[in-house]
Amino acid sequence: MSKFDSYFLMTPSDAIEYSKEKLTLFDADSQLECKEIGDGNLNYVFRVWDPKTKRSVIIKQAGNTARISDDFKLSTERIKIESKALQLEERLAPGLVPKVYRYDEGMNCCVMEDLSDYTILRQALLEQNIFPQFADHITTFMVNTLLLTSDVVMEHKEKKEWVKNYINPELCEITEDLVYTEPYHDNNQRNELFPLSREWIEREIYGDATLRFEVAKCKFEFMNHAQALLHGDLHTGSIFVRENDTKVIDPEFAFYGPMGYDVGNVIANLFFARAHAEALKDQKSQAFIDWVDETIVTIIDQFKEKFLQAWKEHVTEIMAKEPGFDRWYLQNVIKDTSAVTGLELIRRIVGLAKVVDITSIEDPNLRQQAELKCLTAAKRFILEREHIQKGSDFLAVFKGEKIHE
Ligand code: ADP
Ligand code: MG
Repeated sequence: MSKFDSYFLMTPSDAIEYSKEKLTLFDADSQLECKEIGDGNLNYVFRVWDPKTKRSVIIKQAGNTARISDDFKLSTERIKIESKALQLEERLAPGLVPKVYRYDEGMNCCVMEDLSDYTILRQALLEQNIFPQFADHITTFMVNTLLLTSDVVMEHKEKKEWVKNYINPELCEITEDLVYTEPYHDNNQRNELFPLSREWIEREIYGDATLRFEVAKCKFEFMNHAQALLHGDLHTGSIFVRENDTKVIDPEFAFYGPMGYDVGNVIANLFFARAHAEALKDQKSQAFIDWVDETIVTIIDQFKEKFLQAWKEHVTEIMAKEPGFDRWYLQNVIKDTSAVTGLELIRRIVGLAKVVDITSIEDPNLRQQAELKCLTAAKRFILEREHIQKGSDFLAVFKGEKIHE
């Protein structure tokens, strides 16, 4: 019998006891220390370390209510999905996720590699640090995890088995509500508008029936297109970086959905970093903005290049080998990417979950400028998605320029 046989929410001292009992990493007589470092809304993240040997681990535990409110019930199944997804991603894209040491179904926790010597990308970008290899790493991550879990490559019955294993109704509902519904309606209690942007949003978002119609199409695409195993929450807060290293964390929203959802999230959140730097306009900003621009263009163009190359190497589906089918398929992925870029830009400004890139802009006029620039571009990313295909198109739309066909 062990106190960890059945589930309870751990405290830091429980996490120390757990580490000694369940993990082989630490010596029996070591004096471990622990701190809860979670900053999200949902889970608890314990860092356990031995000051003498400097060894450490992260234990992420899911509670059965969200940490923001006990009224917000959530199944602990999500930590199983996260653990399995991280293990799979390590196989498909080696070195680009933290190693999972242990998944404990009883305690609903995942023990993983400690990445405390990395920085969360969102934070690093706010400080205008650049990561020359980021585009290369993230495109490899996305191409490998997306294409290789799709019907183009996988045996179809096995793929359907995976669709079943990664069914994730509660977290999908969060996305369906926060991304695909609430930002387009005035009648929910959760949208929070920056006062100076209110009038524009009421007219141009709530008041635009064409936009809502296109978003409705995107919503049903998200819910019904079981194309590939997505990360499902691939914003800059789910990516750790170091000078030449990238690690993607937190795939608890993983499920089978449209590939463009992941790619669009990355692109939109880079635009937020760009908008922040534009508002700041200090000495460092121009060089940083140039790097962000180059990175956005490279991510789209390199994703496409690597995707077609991986297609050649891995495709097993006989009909998918029809000449030209690869390009047709990829075109649809990029179309979805454009729409999701717009959806993410809108939901982070209009909806409940904000990004600090925008909320930290102190001057109200500069914040309004940043918001309206993102929102104006966002509408084009959704409405003109059929025509936005190249890296340079994405940048042109954000800058308010014409797309060159
Ligand atoms: P949530 O799903 O609750 O948002 P995250 O997985 O995003 O939780 O983790 C919350 C925070 O905990 C991260 O922003 C990071 O600071 C820290 N964290 C998470 N995983 C690790 C890790 N493997 N190594 C170091 N810190 C981590
Ligand atoms: Mg999370």
